[in-house]
Amino acid sequence: MTEIEEARPRRSLTSRIVIGMAAGLILGVGLNMLRHGLDPEGLLERGLHGFLIDGLFYVVGAVFMASLKLLVVPLVFVSLVCGAASLDDISRLGRIGGKTLALYLATTAIAISVALSAAALFRPGDGLDLPTNLEFAPRAAPGWAETVVNIFPSNPVQAMAEGNMLQIIVFALLFGFAMSLSGDPGRRLLAVFEDLNKVVLRLVTVLMEIAPYGVFCLLARIFADQGLGAIAQLASYFSVVLAVLLFHGLVVYPMLLRIFSGLDPRVFLRKMRAPISFAFSTASSNATLPVTLETAEERLGVDNRVASFTIPLGATINMDGTAIMQGVATVFIAQAYGLDLGPAQYLGVVLTATLASIGTAGVPGVGLIMLALVLRQANLPVEGIALIIGVDRLLDMVRTAVNITGDAAVTCIVARSEGQLDAEAFQAP
Ligand code: ASP
Repeated sequence: MTEIEEARPRRSLTSRIVIGMAAGLILGVGLNMLRHGLDPEGLLERGLHGFLIDGLFYVVGAVFMASLKLLVVPLVFVSLVCGAASLDDISRLGRIGGKTLALYLATTAIAISVALSAAALFRPGDGLDLPTNLEFAPRAAPGWAETVVNIFPSNPVQAMAEGNMLQIIVFALLFGFAMSLSGDPGRRLLAVFEDLNKVVLRLVTVLMEIAPYGVFCLLARIFADQGLGAIAQLASYFSVVLAVLLFHGLVVYPMLLRIFSGLDPRVFLRKMRAPISFAFSTASSNATLPVTLETAEERLGVDNRVASFTIPLGATINMDGTAIMQGVATVFIAQAYGLDLGPAQYLGVVLTATLASIGTAGVPGVGLIMLALVLRQANLPVEGIALIIGVDRLLDMVRTAVNITGDAAVTCIVARSEGQLDAEAFQAP
């Protein structure tokens, strides 16, 4: 902590966040070892838990999460109203929407295909000694008709109160369009919304000042609770998921960025460090949204008219990291039960995992719940999910980082193709 404070005037915010993450991780692992190794009486345990892990770390971490989530609804609404109201030509939104959806789907399909191939090749589930008392009670998923109807809000205030992102997006788009069609009143209102947008973005930077402490506490608590012991038991599953996640984030996105937009992937990844750290620490695409949006607009040079639409949409429906986990997990569970998947089943998994990842909300742990859908479709035992729960929180952190990197990469590609990316701002240090 003191190191972070002393370094304050010299280091950038991103470096301080990374230091906070590393310190939290190391301290958390240390505390976990202390609790389990040196404290058979549990005396230390009570004090550590009461005052530190569930006390200080919990409070600071939870306040930090709340301060991020607090920004999401105002930021998405205000920023998207500005974007929609200043679109000179409505057909452009259709084009941006079409390209974005196509790329979100294509990247997810690539992610899941690589995940399935890696799992089939490395066979992480072979020879596993299955415990006999596995239990997992899946929640029922809503049907497709209900899902479509649910995109359209009947009460915008309720949509905002519940943080229903797709409904907020629809309402903001309609409101922005109406403003652009309303002549002078629309223009006056747009000026107010543009001012509001500046103020909310400023609030993002103000609240980011507590980020180093926030991520420190979040990670210290998670690792103090989890430790790294669970990884050893599921090392093969863990490493296959991790390897595919890293491949997707560090090879697939950079390649797509280079091929489709000609942009330098190294600059992209460097500028994504802050949102990636946030996503890793919070395991929530939604909570990270303010930082992803700010990075896209202020640092990657993407125009508000593109980013205000593609980033919130991506945080809600584009989950490549989640699809990767679901793909590897499905094959892993099949192998653990000694079942073989045929080509038709693999294809079914590609389709359902793509849908399941779209349906996964951008909050911690939901990807695992949606995995039940994929398993059921492939006729695999849903209780198999219990096998991988132990390491899911750690993988959730990494896959959330991949999820939001995908949103930003697609946003850059779409913005570039629409002439809405300021290449100088992108390159600027
Ligand atoms: N935590 C992930 C996210 O927010 C979703 C998941 O895979 O559970 O993007």
